[in-house]
Amino acid sequence: MSNQSILKLAIQKSGRLYEDSVGLLKSCSIGVSNGGGRLRTVASNFPLEVYFLRDDDIPQYVEDGVADCGIVGENVLFEKNKKVQIEEPLGFGKCRLSLAMPKARNYEGVQGLRGARIATSYPHLLGQFLKQNKVDAEIHEISGSVEIAPGIGLADCICDLVSTGSTLISNGLKEVEVLLRSEAVMVSNQHLDFPKRQLLDKLLFRIRAVRKAKNNKYILLNAPNDRIEDIKKILPGMKSPTVLPLAEPGWSSVHSVVQEDHFWDIIEDLQAIGAQGILVVPIEKMIV
Ligand code: ATP
Ligand code: ZN
Repeated sequence: MSNQSILKLAIQKSGRLYEDSVGLLKSCSIGVSNGGGRLRTVASNFPLEVYFLRDDDIPQYVEDGVADCGIVGENVLFEKNKKVQIEEPLGFGKCRLSLAMPKARNYEGVQGLRGARIATSYPHLLGQFLKQNKVDAEIHEISGSVEIAPGIGLADCICDLVSTGSTLISNGLKEVEVLLRSEAVMVSNQHLDFPKRQLLDKLLFRIRAVRKAKNNKYILLNAPNDRIEDIKKILPGMKSPTVLPLAEPGWSSVHSVVQEDHFWDIIEDLQAIGAQGILVVPIEKMIV
């Protein structure tokens, strides 16, 4: 039997983080599926064993070393308050933990919550927030459907996860305070042995390359030679842009990498100084 190390990764078995977690592994060329409701599986192309769990259990499993690492929302991680290492934000599962109340009610600031009954699945984070603000309120812990609590008279307000806010609106609630902004993160056990640490670093290297690529585009354009210097100023590229002569005399083709965030501004500037035939293509992996 081989004694080669294998990294054990815990991900959500179904729910909002499942697709993106599996998708992230896939984009790192690691095949995984929980087909048939399996609880664990060995990945193809990487020494990785994946455990499919409820997200709430992931911090504990990673702290105990049952899993070496895991993908979980910061909201769950901070609520559970387990001793694990945060390795890397992953850019999905974005949401916020917010206080909300019936829209007809007047919000008088945090101090106005004194004596209020607040329903939540996040008693630890809410308790911390109230303590920081020196407000005494009643925390009602419920495990789901928190947003209906005010409507049925169970609470005056709620502390719950929000992403678009449409669930709040359809329950006649308004968001009045943000306690935490959250996204999915990779966490790890604090006492990984060297071979596992190396495997995790290898996985993180791939994840960073994929995420970087997603935020960047490869751009190609044609321009008259006398505009190249101006174009270089707009398109710094990874080192500097690639400039190749076109068959047509006096013209060149310029290749570079631009960040998605700055993309449209850059395109406008390029057109304004005479760039033509601009092509933009996605990058699959980016190692810098
Ligand atoms: P489980 O069965 O694993 O316990 P769950 O019902 O607790 O699932 P989901 O609703 O699938 O959890 O949400 C998982 C995570 O997705 C949340 O903890 C949070 O990090 C993230 N998330 C992103 N947007 C939202 C949102 N609008 N509402 C709830 N969670 C969100
Ligand atoms: Zn959960």
